Amino acid sequence: MNASEAKSIQTTCAYCGVGCGIQATPNPDGESAKISGLKVHPANHGKLCSKGTALGDTLQSKGRLLYPEVNGERASWDQVTSLIAQQFEQIKRVHGPDALAFYLSGQLLTEDYYVANKLMKGFIGSGNVDTNSRLCMSSSVAGHKRAFGSDTVPGCYEDFEQADLITLVGSNTAWCHPVLFQRIKRYKAQNPQVRVVVIDPRVTPTCEIADLHLPIRLGGDTMLFNGLLCALAEQGKIDHDFVKNHCEGLEDALEAARTSSGDLHALASDLEVDISLLTQFYDWFCQTEKSVTLYSQGVNQSSFGTDKVNSLLNCHLATARIGKPGMGPFSMTGQPNAMGGREVGGLANTLAAHMDFDPDSIDRVGRFWGSTSMADKPGKMAVDLFESILKGDIQAVWIMATNPVVSLPNADLVKAALEKCPLVIVSDCVEDTDTLRFAHIKLPATGWGEKDGTVTNSERCISRQRALFPPSGEARHDWWAISEVAKKMGFQDAFDYQSQADIFREHAQLSGFENNDSATGGRLRDFDISGLSELSDQEYEALTPSYWPINAEHPEGRRRLFADGLFYTPTRRARLLPITPRQPVNRPSEDFPLRLNTGRIRDQWHTMTRTALAPQLNRHISEPYLEMHPDSAHKFALKPGQLVKVESQWGKMIARLNVNENCRRQDVFAPMHWNDVLSSCSRINAVVNPEVDPFSKQPESKHTPVKVSGMKASHYGFILSRDTKTWPDSADYAVTIPGQHQTLIQCAWESSQLNAREILEELISAEHVSEQQVVMRYDDDVAGIHRLAVLDKRDKLLAVAFVSTNSDLPETTWLASQFDQQSLNERSRMALLSGFAPAGEDTGKVVCACFNVGEKTLEAAVRSGCRTTKMLGEKLKAGTNCGSCLPELQQIIDAQPEKEIPLKVLPEQV
Ligand code: SF4
Repeated sequence: MNASEAKSIQTTCAYCGVGCGIQATPNPDGESAKISGLKVHPANHGKLCSKGTALGDTLQSKGRLLYPEVNGERASWDQVTSLIAQQFEQIKRVHGPDALAFYLSGQLLTEDYYVANKLMKGFIGSGNVDTNSRLCMSSSVAGHKRAFGSDTVPGCYEDFEQADLITLVGSNTAWCHPVLFQRIKRYKAQNPQVRVVVIDPRVTPTCEIADLHLPIRLGGDTMLFNGLLCALAEQGKIDHDFVKNHCEGLEDALEAARTSSGDLHALASDLEVDISLLTQFYDWFCQTEKSVTLYSQGVNQSSFGTDKVNSLLNCHLATARIGKPGMGPFSMTGQPNAMGGREVGGLANTLAAHMDFDPDSIDRVGRFWGSTSMADKPGKMAVDLFESILKGDIQAVWIMATNPVVSLPNADLVKAALEKCPLVIVSDCVEDTDTLRFAHIKLPATGWGEKDGTVTNSERCISRQRALFPPSGEARHDWWAISEVAKKMGFQDAFDYQSQADIFREHAQLSGFENNDSATGGRLRDFDISGLSELSDQEYEALTPSYWPINAEHPEGRRRLFADGLFYTPTRRARLLPITPRQPVNRPSEDFPLRLNTGRIRDQWHTMTRTALAPQLNRHISEPYLEMHPDSAHKFALKPGQLVKVESQWGKMIARLNVNENCRRQDVFAPMHWNDVLSSCSRINAVVNPEVDPFSKQPESKHTPVKVSGMKASHYGFILSRDTKTWPDSADYAVTIPGQHQTLIQCAWESSQLNAREILEELISAEHVSEQQVVMRYDDDVAGIHRLAVLDKRDKLLAVAFVSTNSDLPETTWLASQFDQQSLNERSRMALLSGFAPAGEDTGKVVCACFNVGEKTLEAAVRSGCRTTKMLGEKLKAGTNCGSCLPELQQIIDAQPEKEIPLKVLPEQV
């Protein structure tokens, strides 16, 4: 294809649950694309965050899994699908259907999800289909179903722009859902009377827009919302008409809330917050009818996440603030298609199309699919599923588009389980992940940019994801691979799909199948897209973003539900639940005195298999870190920037210590992204406890007792090299940071048998220095400092390595930037082995990933008078694309004192 033929394609972002629309123009190289926000998409109106903006740089063929493999040998698709079908049949015959399992992903398209669910639950006859969405929002699903009788998000993003009070609970929206955050921020800037409350144990970048930050202790949410329910009752804010006509359970819920929360002083003390902050929040919520409450993983990832959800929903139901413009609870999903997975039944405790494992639904879905071997009970859910593999109850698992060895809690158990499992099949688009390393059968899947189908975002908006390129190598869509296996297992008729449009039509038909409520004339089930079941192939191809339900009553879709007070419980009333607060299962102890909280960072997604391919996304935060309060650092004799070991009773990891006052004294925080492919010992989920919520089975990823100790390293070192390479085996800590023209590997040795000189040789050994190259070297055997740089004859930098017995190695941003040059100038060449830029050339750590603007450049601009983010944008472009860095730009401005005007000057001027 030449440049003039390049066609612009409308598609959807691959990452978070905001579900931004993208305008993509494939580049002639066939493996990159120009990306911009899709102006007509209702989720983002043309905006994108740093991750979405960088999608075009993650499409390269290098590192792709290109053909099927069996035990490391290349195989054909025909061979491999025949082998899987035969193995599945044999295992089913010997051990029964529950010895097979699928572990899916919120990254799959709805069509992939639908076919996988249909094969396992409808034809193999087991409920063992679970998904990484279990880790993300299953407590919301369980809470919705308990309260509404259905898994329904009642509102939409527009509600945030119509509310007078926006409460963000357990959500670093600024980093995890940046485009929605920017929408809220813009709306607040235009409407200064709008209040934003952030409820989070940590100070996060989201607090930038908070009128009030309530830093409650980890796990205090049920207490907080029980207290709010009491405050609503005391201030006469219960909507008794709505409750009387459309709800049940208020009295019991209130009684439980009153019993648990006590008086305000006791409650504030229990939550470890100032009583004035608590009263302020309660007063604002009580007084503000137009109130939206967004919640995310901080609520869901808990051993009582479902109760947290219901305590929050109680407050909205009691005040009838639901399903109306500017009002409602809002569950924000982490993943791009977590909602699509819920629609098809991708969770092991749901059947299909928002139906459960009740006899009527099993019969209905069985008749629709033409199956007589339906699963008749829920299957194993995520944590339980991998424990069952370890026990030998599950003999074969097919993992698609996810990396459980990194993302599941107690992740070393997942490794052990996969090591033991007789048959591990992994479908992925890349050739190396922690999980793929355990696969007997590897299946090359299409990746973003090749996939074609639909996804549903957090506000129930179904969007098309469209292919930009044909599949790489022998990659195939997941739905195709599953269908081939199904056909070879004898289910030819049920899986004879010719296209993704065929699957979508069937999915839409099932949603409307026997979905009429004769009593009310409405629908029995909330999820109904029967209005899309007759789409032609062309109409499917052209489908524009549409909000479900879409049916005869709502042919154009519906943005809000429940304002009419009709819910999906048997009585059609919403349920308020009595919530008795509980504590996290594992409590801090003398041995493990700190509470570990985990989460995400701004520029990485999940386990970094895709985002780490875009060099600009590795610049913002390049190493695994642990955030700790200064008082705790002092107590444990730890210093900022040093390497620390984080240990729990389940596992350990190593990270760099980030000391600040964002964390509470008892807590530490670590991001969940790093994996064994990019680091030697930094999977935080190896440390995280595997406790789960009893209703949702969602793991308690936000609370694990840990201890933190300093890593006593004898040597530190790094290498920057144009050739991608791995770290030396001898290193106890190592992390790989891919860049534009170079790869950086940071290492530390705890007690090396080698001296510093020998370690440098080991680091540089793969460089194969030739006579044509120039080697610059600095050795100080007494101080244990050794540095080496390799350049070609034209002074192009090829590699540079530093080793020291001290941890004070130079920051690498400037050295890394020297790989952008085709030839180093004299000043740079002379400065190389110092590691520091010649005066005036160091831009510092990258803050704005879109325009590569460093911290020092920003600080200089602030000092020269740019005192607003707008002025920084005008001068340096920083923050003017995705806006993800705006909170940090503001922090840099705030950290630089304004220049004082000397008083003595004034009279003279006057
Ligand atoms: Fe993608 Fe960012 Fe939009 Fe999320 S907010 S969908 S990551 S562009």
